[in-house]
Amino acid sequence: GLTGRLQNVFSKLRGKGKVSEDDVNEAMREVRLALLEADVNFKVVKDFVSKVKEKSVGKEVMDSFTPGMVIIDIVNKELTDLMGGSQAKLAKSNKPPTVIMMVGLQGAGKTTTSGKLAKLLQKGNSRPLLVAADIYRPAAIKQLQVLGEQIKAPVFSLGDQTSPVEIAKQAVQHAKDNSLDYVIIDTAGRLHIDEELMEELKQIHSSVNPDEVLLVVDAMTGQDAVNVADSFNKQLELTGVVLTKLDGDSRGGAALSVKAVTGCPIKFAALGEKIDALEPFHPERMASRILGMGDMLSLIEKAQANIDTDKAKEMERKMRNAEFTFDDFLEQMDQVKKLGPIDQILDMLPGMNKAKGMKDLKVDDKQMGRVEAIVHSMTKTEKRQPEIMNHNRRKRIAAGSGTSVAEVNRLIKQFDEMRKMMKQFSGMMGGGAGGKGAK
Ligand code: GDP
Ligand code: MG
Repeated sequence: GLTGRLQNVFSKLRGKGKVSEDDVNEAMREVRLALLEADVNFKVVKDFVSKVKEKSVGKEVMDSFTPGMVIIDIVNKELTDLMGGSQAKLAKSNKPPTVIMMVGLQGAGKTTTSGKLAKLLQKGNSRPLLVAADIYRPAAIKQLQVLGEQIKAPVFSLGDQTSPVEIAKQAVQHAKDNSLDYVIIDTAGRLHIDEELMEELKQIHSSVNPDEVLLVVDAMTGQDAVNVADSFNKQLELTGVVLTKLDGDSRGGAALSVKAVTGCPIKFAALGEKIDALEPFHPERMASRILGMGDMLSLIEKAQANIDTDKAKEMERKMRNAEFTFDDFLEQMDQVKKLGPIDQILDMLPGMNKAKGMKDLKVDDKQMGRVEAIVHSMTKTEKRQPEIMNHNRRKRIAAGSGTSVAEVNRLIKQFDEMRKMMKQFSGMMGGGAGGKGAK
């Protein structure tokens, strides 16, 4: 995928003490191919690569101590800019309710996203009204009602015999009468863009004059998503895009091209089917995600400032030789503690936001004490080979440390996650925490 390819390019660059123009050219060729392969719009790729190249061959970069890192940083910034630079916020009407119209093709995720957006607004102490304006798709109204029940948000429906325009109008009035501050209109989609669909959407638009027209597009469809966005935008003046299904193996192309092609910012990203799998879209985070490095640069800076380099090197050696034990785990937690809040660190590591087990890893001192007690109740073999810890061993350890089997289980799971993280981390440090060419 895109991430893997870019990481390859950059690991080559990172290892170099000096970078020549040829190196940059070669890297940019790879970047270009990687982006095209990820289904990024051709023109977008061309502009992007020429911008990055221009900045990369500058004298300061070539003469810098770590040119590879500087180039990665340039790519990261340009990717961020490409996606709009900073986060595009949802509009808020100063005359409530704020009216949001959800549009898009069938199956893109309009209805699901409507529910998720309502939930997100509720979290911000707002009171959204969901409006069932898709009267065509069988069970579309029911689908929205189920979502509404799930999050305890009111759903406005007039069945499937009233026109969507009328439904939208009455819904806005209903929101006013009941002091609801957001109206989310879930409209109908088609398999393809057609006159009839656009006509209906335009009519709804002119009758309720929405503050937001959010186009919901399926990120998995790559450049098609961008084409859809372009067509919708020409007819409806979108205010934002919601990219759905980013949890799937989308190639990233849509996220990278939408803003550049349509001028329309991505406002939200949906990362799953669950009701809370929607987040505001942050261009800088997406760029990092695409580069497969979380906020690697800042993390490496932080790590170099805080971590004992000798210890880190030793730890890395152990990781490589699979000697990492529970004693090392304790020490590692101590080191990690110096880096700051654990969830902040995890956010910076690629792939780690998925490591749910790590999320509850609290490294406050009290917790550390319990962790230490558990580790000290293990035998030497257990510390080295956690795989052998069956239920009886876990029970014994829990009793010996004055904790519970659940806690022991959790710790073992965290140990596994830590092992994985260490492996990834040392890989990304370019095979030598702080040292060059230690491999
Ligand atoms: P609509 O026709 O545009 O209203 O689309 P729906 O909201 O009915 O969604 C179509 C399908 O896509 C459903 O099965 C959803 O569960 C699924 N879906 C929506 N958003 C996401 C997402 O972010 N990730 C995944 N994996 N599935 C999604
Ligand atoms: Mg729907």
